[in-house]
Amino acid sequence: MARRIVVVGGGAGGLELACKLGRMLGRVGGNAPGAQDARVSLVDCRLFHVWKPSLHEVAAGTLDIHQEGLSYLMLAHDNGFDFVYGPLIGLDANARSITVGAVYGETGEPIIPQRQIPYDVLAIAVGSTANYFGIPGAAEHSMALNGPEDAERFRLRMLKLMAMADLQKEAKPTAGIDIVIIGGGATGVELAAELREASKVHRNYGFRRLEPNTDVRITLLEGAPRILAPLPEKVSTAAANLLRERHVRVVTDCRVARIGPDRVEDGSGNHYPADLCVWAAGIKAPDLLGQLGLPVVKGGQVDVDAHLRVKGHPDIYAFGDCAACVDADGRLVPPRAQSAHQQADYLLDALRRIERGEPPKQQAYVYKDYGSLVSLGTRSSVGSLMGSVFRATWFVEGLFARAMYASLHLMHHQAVLGTVRTGVLAMARFLVKRATPLVKLH
Ligand SMILES: Cc1cc2nc3c(=O)[nH]c(=O)nc-3n(C[C@H](O)[C@H](O)[C@H](O)COP(=O)(O)OP(=O)(O)OC[C@H]3O[C@@H](n4cnc5c(N)ncnc54)[C@H](O)[C@@H]3O)c2cc1C
Repeated sequence: MARRIVVVGGGAGGLELACKLGRMLGRVGGNAPGAQDARVSLVDCRLFHVWKPSLHEVAAGTLDIHQEGLSYLMLAHDNGFDFVYGPLIGLDANARSITVGAVYGETGEPIIPQRQIPYDVLAIAVGSTANYFGIPGAAEHSMALNGPEDAERFRLRMLKLMAMADLQKEAKPTAGIDIVIIGGGATGVELAAELREASKVHRNYGFRRLEPNTDVRITLLEGAPRILAPLPEKVSTAAANLLRERHVRVVTDCRVARIGPDRVEDGSGNHYPADLCVWAAGIKAPDLLGQLGLPVVKGGQVDVDAHLRVKGHPDIYAFGDCAACVDADGRLVPPRAQSAHQQADYLLDALRRIERGEPPKQQAYVYKDYGSLVSLGTRSSVGSLMGSVFRATWFVEGLFARAMYASLHLMHHQAVLGTVRTGVLAMARFLVKRATPLVKLH
């Protein structure tokens, strides 16, 4: 009987691994060498996949979740793996089996019962979640872009608030909407830029009384002296200038102390009105990981060795945001789509060798930093690219940087859909965008 590889988490890393493993090892009756070498299963608590770095576009309405979402059932059918719908809730490492929780319907009725899924090899890539650092009111009064449903919830709330403000405008000239984004990292900066762009488009679709720059007031709060602090100073200066040009208020050295239902308060006693507040100031590993009986580090991520194996568990791997992988220079590999993608490719090779009885992979995983690109709307990006030969850093901006940024999304689609379908889909979306509103309005 074929051995079973179970991948948990169909995100930036896990989905790429499941698709590539399925195509390589899992196809029943396929022609590829080693076909049926292993049965590949993907477990996810959602039914469809949206690439997480594009969630700010979903939140702003510039990306339609219903067009963008890729069904796991379709991907499973096309790539030779099977899909298990439900959340990972338990692990019995001795029995080599995971527990997948029940799935409930809208009224709470159970649709799929709890199940035990046996495995020979387990790869965990469940991503990350918001870290509120215990700030009072943060969990209750702010939204975090943890998944597509959060982004969609934000978008619908924003539309309602804009409709209300538009109605009030004649009677109350100061009516508008205050959006506060906490965290000037890539997520916060990209969201601020995308929201500003969307606010200009909304005006064409009925919100005529709202002046985008003055009535859709966007404030970005950052605790460090500059936004995009981990990136070169030139990148953060360029991003801050672009945001200010677009009437986004950028406040640095601002430590948020408390969040209320309608305002954010910082440590110096300043208040920022907030009809909508987004938390983009930190992530942590899901609490679940600490309950699985696996070793975890202080930040809650699973402790893995240089081969991405969970320490003390040779048959279990963890990668992406949920794994604490120490690089050759002693630093943790950063939680990025780039890392998750590289680690998926590393594991693909390691697992292929195991399943085909080839000598095990000797080489440890090495993170290659190719730089960072930050999207600033549909026509602009800024970032730095790292040369792989001379390790030089190039500053990039404008349309070229935007094209490079878009290509990262396409590369992810290419990994899960293949080249031809990615091309067809990209063309179809380009055409659909010309026949539908530029922002999603329902
Ligand atoms: C708005 C935004 C912008 C970003 N921009 C960039 C960027 O420009 N560049 C970049 O490199 N990175 C960016 N990131 C970070 C990047 O998205 C993550 O680092 C990357 O997605 C991590 O990949 P992953 O596979 O580890 O986890 P994810 O992509 O988060 O996938 C985790 C998967 O696990 C599933 N899951 C979670 N819990 C369970 C469970 N208990 N059981 C079963 N399934 C579960 C989820 O449904 C999801 O499908 C951005 C993030 C955000 C939110």
